Amino acid sequence: MSEFWYNNFRVVGGCIIKKKFVIFISVTLGLSILILIGLFISLYLNQSFKITNFKKIIEIPYNSTFANNQGDACYGNVFKCDPVSIIQEGDVDTSKIGEYIIHYTYKFADKTITKEQTVRVKDYDKPIIEVIDDNFAICPNSKYTNFKVTAYDDYDGDLTDKVKQFIDNKQVVFQVDDSSNNRTEVRKDLTLIDDEKPVLTLNGDANIYLKINEKYTELGAKAMDNCDGDLTEYIQKTGKVYNTIPGEYDITYEVVDSSGNKASIVRKVFVYQEQNTENPTAKSIYLTFDDGPSAYTSKLLDVLKKYNVKATFFVTGYGLSKGYDDVILRAYQEGHTIGLHTDTHEYSIYKNIDTYFNDLYTIQEKVKNITGYTSTIIRFPGGSSNTVSRSYDNGSKIMSQLVKAVEAKGFTYFDWNVSSGDAGETTSTTKVFSNVISGLGKHNYSIVLQHDTKGYSINAVEDIIKYALSKGYTFKPLTTTSPTAHHHLNN
Ligand code: ZN
Repeated sequence: MSEFWYNNFRVVGGCIIKKKFVIFISVTLGLSILILIGLFISLYLNQSFKITNFKKIIEIPYNSTFANNQGDACYGNVFKCDPVSIIQEGDVDTSKIGEYIIHYTYKFADKTITKEQTVRVKDYDKPIIEVIDDNFAICPNSKYTNFKVTAYDDYDGDLTDKVKQFIDNKQVVFQVDDSSNNRTEVRKDLTLIDDEKPVLTLNGDANIYLKINEKYTELGAKAMDNCDGDLTEYIQKTGKVYNTIPGEYDITYEVVDSSGNKASIVRKVFVYQEQNTENPTAKSIYLTFDDGPSAYTSKLLDVLKKYNVKATFFVTGYGLSKGYDDVILRAYQEGHTIGLHTDTHEYSIYKNIDTYFNDLYTIQEKVKNITGYTSTIIRFPGGSSNTVSRSYDNGSKIMSQLVKAVEAKGFTYFDWNVSSGDAGETTSTTKVFSNVISGLGKHNYSIVLQHDTKGYSINAVEDIIKYALSKGYTFKPLTTTSPTAHHHLNN
């Protein structure tokens, strides 16, 4: 094979094309090497901070630990990366929910870079609702409920006041949100029921007393229902008062709620007329008042006078010594009977016959000095049936002796067959009234025991009189020929 140069090209085997290709490859290779060298140099020189696993926004539960959120950082190039120092600015109070900004400064030699991180401290736990009530019965027409519940949140504390309750599809729903909008909901099945009747209340008194021909004024009643509220306008009233005819009239008020529960209440109207002492009825009442006179006796006399009612006062020397002599004189002058109770009202008078009579004659004398009247109408302290005398009489059965002795000496003793209960069982005017009127119905004649030393008892007298007049009773003072209502002796 010949070889020579032609125009600076080497000719091998006489082929010029091959020569050009060699030149092309050579130049390409040379350039590539230059580029690679440049690239290598550039990579080597390109040093920077490399930060990985860094989150711009993180969320953590409150009360958790906040640490190591700066990511992984170094400074260098692809061949080598050196550790850097990191300074954290700002902190997170994990006990308080909210947003916190943290700055991290990464530092290598004189180079620094800063990154910002937003930390959200959150409450992920729902509040707890505790339902206290265990009976979920409500009115059929209820629009809201008011059951007892409590609510507690681990972050907000007591949320009881924030609990909403409402009715949804025959259930009561209890709902509460905490400050982070975590919602708790509890549902309970409701029972729709109304088995309570309305409450009827009379306007004015339950007992009304009308003097004959006096006009009856209807005061009506009020009705309140647990479910329906005010039902006053639905009250049905029945009954009529004939104010020209003495007697007892019932006015009945009735109301029914929307569930059919019915209530009723009755007002009693008593039409009375002043008693006609000329023609007394067979049914007699003897009002008797023991232990006085007292501060209440004058008022009592006013009431008796108003209705032209005569009564009997079994007086004591104790009351007289208090300066009420004029009251007894007035009672006597107004036609009441002044009976003798005792002078001292001490149970020691039952020691023996003489002691008793000494006391009795003393009060008899005092009454005579005031009124000029020698009373022989008496009542034993405690009544003839008393058992207290046993404590004083040394077994002599003093009451058995006395009931004979007083009669032998011309006295007439009276017990009673209707007790007002004012000696100790009650201190209520209403109860005194009801005790007396229930007692009246049990006897052909009634001797009623009250005490004019008890204000609450005296306050019942006017209604007792009006009631009895409406029923046609006649009030009478005791006389020596009156029935005596003697008790069984217990000594
Ligand atoms: Zn007495």
